[in-house]
Amino acid sequence: MSQPGPQARGSTVRAALEAALAEAPEAGLTARELSAAVGISEKDVAEHLVHLDKSLKALGGRLQVVPAECLACGFVFRDRTRFTRPGACPKCRATRIDPPAFRLGH
Ligand SMILES: [Zn+2]
Repeated sequence: MSQPGPQARGSTVRAALEAALAEAPEAGLTARELSAAVGISEKDVAEHLVHLDKSLKALGGRLQVVPAECLACGFVFRDRTRFTRPGACPKCRATRIDPPAFRLGH
């Protein structure tokens, strides 16, 4: 196998993320699950999702975010548009947060 350049590697990772997301059309996948599926860090997943969202939009689709939810009080992070996990609940300050999940939208 030849070594792909950085650019090729980026699009390969995004294709792998998209393929993983296509396998979970209902519940979606969290950054942690995507990280395990594709073999990159959760931080890198968030970065690649930003680019994947852009390329999906260019094709008339989008990346849907299933909002994160506070496990202590049930607060739903509806307004959150970033692809990373929130640190703490703004309502009760709990840090046990059910992370956002991502799925392919149309
Ligand atoms: Zn809370």
